[in-house]
Amino acid sequence: MTDQFDIVVVGGGPAGYPAAIRAAQLGFKTACIDAWLNKDNSPAFGGTCLNAGCIPSKALLESSELWHRMQHEIGAHGISGSDFKVDLDKMQARKTAVSRQLTGGIKALFGANKVTGLEGFGKLLGDGKVEFTPHNGEKQVLSAKHVIIATGSSPVNLKIAPFDDKRIVDSWGALDFTEVPKTLGIIGAGVIGVELGSVWSRLGSKTVILEALPNFLPMVDQQIAKEALRHFTKQGLDIRLGAKVITAKSGAKAVEVEYEVNGEKKKESFDKLIVAVGRRPNTDGLNAKEIGVAIDERGFVKVDAHYKTNVPGVYAIGDVIGGAMLAHKAIEEGVALAEQLAGHHTQLNYDAIPSVIYTAPEVAWTGLSEEQAKAKGYEVKVGSGPFAANGRAKAMEAAQGSIKIIADAKTDRILGVHMCGPYVSELLAEAVLGLEFAATCEDIALTMHGHPTLSENFHEAVLSVDGRAIHA
Ligand code: FAD
Repeated sequence: MTDQFDIVVVGGGPAGYPAAIRAAQLGFKTACIDAWLNKDNSPAFGGTCLNAGCIPSKALLESSELWHRMQHEIGAHGISGSDFKVDLDKMQARKTAVSRQLTGGIKALFGANKVTGLEGFGKLLGDGKVEFTPHNGEKQVLSAKHVIIATGSSPVNLKIAPFDDKRIVDSWGALDFTEVPKTLGIIGAGVIGVELGSVWSRLGSKTVILEALPNFLPMVDQQIAKEALRHFTKQGLDIRLGAKVITAKSGAKAVEVEYEVNGEKKKESFDKLIVAVGRRPNTDGLNAKEIGVAIDERGFVKVDAHYKTNVPGVYAIGDVIGGAMLAHKAIEEGVALAEQLAGHHTQLNYDAIPSVIYTAPEVAWTGLSEEQAKAKGYEVKVGSGPFAANGRAKAMEAAQGSIKIIADAKTDRILGVHMCGPYVSELLAEAVLGLEFAATCEDIALTMHGHPTLSENFHEAVLSVDGRAIHA
């Protein structure tokens, strides 16, 4: 028997489930197939983000930051006590509960919007047919006018340091430690490496991050990246740049890691090693290539500006098409595609993507760094707002970091905002909106910001571009 739909979405992560919901809202008969199984074998929609990425990592970052603040910061508020301890089981249970509440919510949203949620594996058969293999039960063939590939990505498994799920783990394994490792190695000082490093370092792991590149966070304005590095180092994260891992061997008692810095070979042993060197697109078993879908040399599904693959009626969105591998980019692509299929005009602005590292202080940015703007030929003017001069940050005992504005000297238009500081993830929305509306420094300078707020520092940084900051 063939079940007939208007749209079948393969993958129910941040790209797939919003695409399915929006499509159903627009009147399409929609199914969403998702293969995710949690480690207890329970199926769940929400993909990497809700089950093993954004949400569980933020839950642990929040818990571990609270612990860090209690140990290192509450004394300054005049609060003291000694009977606090970490119950890791409870912390992990809270993390799981937060994830499960949200993944359960997707099922409820599917119900409310009349999306058919199917738990199992999807395989493209061509000619608008998709084979659905449920986790338990008989195979079934679905038929649809439009098929959307939203199969996401998985951690890259390095040959020199293969995952063994005991000592050498991926980001998912690192979110599930049942004990705090005494010593922790991490390969890769990207967003995921630094976030996971912060979690376990705050909870007591002696943490070393080995990064092959010579610069810390090369995608971030280097003035801000250096500032962040200073704070992370002060907190105890040992970030070694230009450190190329040669091999990692998992033994009965430890992982032995051999690496090279400036041609000099070094060795280090750790209780656990997290490999966080990037993610690869999920197309195994999907049969996309076999039905003629073009895949690039790195395995990403090739699409045009409207998320169309080269095969009529087949589209792709989210991590599987590459670009910024971020949940909000995936969500917006899902919604945009559903609207396009309904005949609406939509267009995403890939020059104004928000990016965040949820450490403390946080790092957040959108648009160009000073280095990128200059490389593109802009005559640049910059401004800086240090949080040390911000009343709210002082009151919070979190007056660290700064906001940097990168603007076009000829037109006054803001090209980028790069920040390190308290809750800059929340300040980022103003910067993204500014870029989206092509704001000039003058536009922001003339916009009143509440006092005392952290957002005042955004205003202050913009004022400083033309040398008119009041507080710094
Ligand atoms: P995925 O979330 O990977 O979902 C794809 C889904 O498709 C999965 O459920 C998969 O099982 C399913 N699937 C695959 N193949 C098939 C098939 N053939 N049939 C059926 N189902 C299939 N991003 C942020 O924006 N903010 C963050 O704070 C953040 N933190 C992160 C932290 C970590 C530790 C990690 C690993 C990632 C983080 N990300 C974050 C990235 C974010 O998780 C991804 O960008 C996002 O999940 C991509 O969404 P997606 O829908 O494209 O893919």
